[in-house]
Amino acid sequence: MDMNCEFRGIGMTSQRTRERLVQRLIQEGISQLAVLDQIRDIPRHLFVDEALASRAYEDTALPIGFGQTISQPYIVARMTEALLAGGRLKKVLEVGTGSGYQTAVLSRLVDQVYSVERIRGLLNQARERFHRLHIRNVHLKYSDGGWGWPEHALYDGIIVTAAPLEVPAPLIEQLAIGGRLLIPAGQGGAQQLLQITRTGASTHESKVLEPVRFVTLRGGTE
Ligand code: SAH
Repeated sequence: MDMNCEFRGIGMTSQRTRERLVQRLIQEGISQLAVLDQIRDIPRHLFVDEALASRAYEDTALPIGFGQTISQPYIVARMTEALLAGGRLKKVLEVGTGSGYQTAVLSRLVDQVYSVERIRGLLNQARERFHRLHIRNVHLKYSDGGWGWPEHALYDGIIVTAAPLEVPAPLIEQLAIGGRLLIPAGQGGAQQLLQITRTGASTHESKVLEPVRFVTLRGGTE
């Protein structure tokens, strides 16, 4: 298969299959065209194991090894849309690179993405994917992202793709004033997606968007 064909997809990874996913997301309330365009364009089948490629354009989370999952397209779209609704973003921090799919979506919509992952095997696979897809504005770090990535702070936006019980304070501290943090938080069965806006040096506002189900944000690295 030549490269072009591999990115564009055939059969269950074809443009037609992707268009069905986009239509479904529109029905579910995703309305930002820039976000929908990325979901249509980015080859999600290259972010999962080949054996799962035929399911890559279903609106579902899929296993990526190491006990982790690639997020459901609806959730990726919803979080990206909420993050971008505040206006154009220059610098965004992502905690939980995982497969790199959410990272790739962000890379097309903001200037620079800083992404932190605590599982080395996943980070290395994601790095290879970015290379293959010629994505050059993503910066990766192997570390516990509960501490953020202080060296590059402040961020215009932060997106967290694993759920802590409570929002880690360093993430709010690394947000620029007016910046948004999208983060799932709470116990397994009762997580909520939160949108936190930093309103001042020591103030922020928090809004509950919807119930979600994410893997747990864990401390340390492996
Ligand atoms: N956005 C990713 C989601 C992967 S699942 C995707 O769509 O593929 C969540 C990821 O968060 C996992 O890869 C997990 O290893 C990572 N993670 C969990 N706790 C973390 C932490 N404290 N710091 C960095 N990454 C973390």
